[in-house]
Amino acid sequence: MIEFYSDNTMTTRKKKIALLGVTGSIGQSSCAVIDNYSERFETTLVAARSSISQLAESAARLNASIAVTTDCTKTAELSAALPENIRCASGMETIIDTVTSDAVDIVLCAIIGTAGIRPVLAAIEAGKTIALASKEVMVASGDLVNAALKANPQAKLIPVDSEHSGVFQLLSGRTPEEIDTICLTASGGPFRTWDAERIANATLADALKHPTWQMGQKITIDSASMMNKALELLEAKYLFHRYNAKLDVLVHPQSAVHALIEFNDGSMLAQCSCPDMKLPIAYALNYPERIAFPGKQLKLAELKTLEFFAPDRKKFPAFDFADAALAAGGTLPCAMNAANEVAVERFCRGEIKFGDIYKIISAVMDKWHNEAQISLEQLENADQEARCKAREVTL
Ligand code: MG
Repeated sequence: MIEFYSDNTMTTRKKKIALLGVTGSIGQSSCAVIDNYSERFETTLVAARSSISQLAESAARLNASIAVTTDCTKTAELSAALPENIRCASGMETIIDTVTSDAVDIVLCAIIGTAGIRPVLAAIEAGKTIALASKEVMVASGDLVNAALKANPQAKLIPVDSEHSGVFQLLSGRTPEEIDTICLTASGGPFRTWDAERIANATLADALKHPTWQMGQKITIDSASMMNKALELLEAKYLFHRYNAKLDVLVHPQSAVHALIEFNDGSMLAQCSCPDMKLPIAYALNYPERIAFPGKQLKLAELKTLEFFAPDRKKFPAFDFADAALAAGGTLPCAMNAANEVAVERFCRGEIKFGDIYKIISAVMDKWHNEAQISLEQLENADQEARCKAREVTL
């Protein structure tokens, strides 16, 4: 459960941050944010799997105490690339030991995929604040995360995904009884105006042309297929479950409004800002304070027009997958996420057509033996099983 809290005590010491997934798009935006607030934050740990030279550069930029690669074969390469004053380490155990220790206050999790689940659960059990950019953690293990939050009420989870940060900001001070609908917006991606046949045959270059957001490759393809929004609906379900609200999506090509809430009396509130991930990152790290951040301000008068459309569910089966996973819960969202990751990998390798991404996800979800979420081990097995099935789907 997400809970809002107020903390009026003046911060007398810097908050200590662990930044997981530092070399990705969100990780690099996070470096810029932490750098900007150097009087408020210090960096204990940065971690990444590969891109070792960038990991070392980021560690040096933030003057981190420890840099960790989760790929143990890259330890020597990392050690050679790091300045002498930064400790080199490898493996997830070092990350977990550090994020659960007194050396860390805030864990910013921006690891791509489900590898973020273990450190996030460990950080919750240690009562830390988690700024969560890895949507897969909530999609695949939302019930486990919520059970851990309930058992460790001192832990705080603050969403970084832009739409969910918007919802989080809008829900502040609200009670579940007031809320009717939580609505996420979607840019519509590069294929918004394409017909279904053209989408089915789209190339990798077509899928990577996102109209409004600059993001990593996987999420850009997910935006083109609308699977990103399917994942975000699941993320919203688990993040905001205590509001028991209806969930909806509006296509909004200008990407100025990120989220809306509708109250039980029909009144709506919207959260707007420039499409820049540094803003939700800064909000999550400074929460509950709102601290000035240098960057572009949204100029509504320059945009002139804000458009909203209902998503085209016939063209984008992602919404059918989301409906099935939202209704079933259990391990099905984990399977949906894993099948999508494998399908996107296969598309990026040129093995399958864009439209086959949907066929692979559908094949895995249709025959899935669903179970309630009970343990991390069970979810890791479900994740692996869905990946194997997605690799074996013949088209
Ligand atoms: Mg998002």
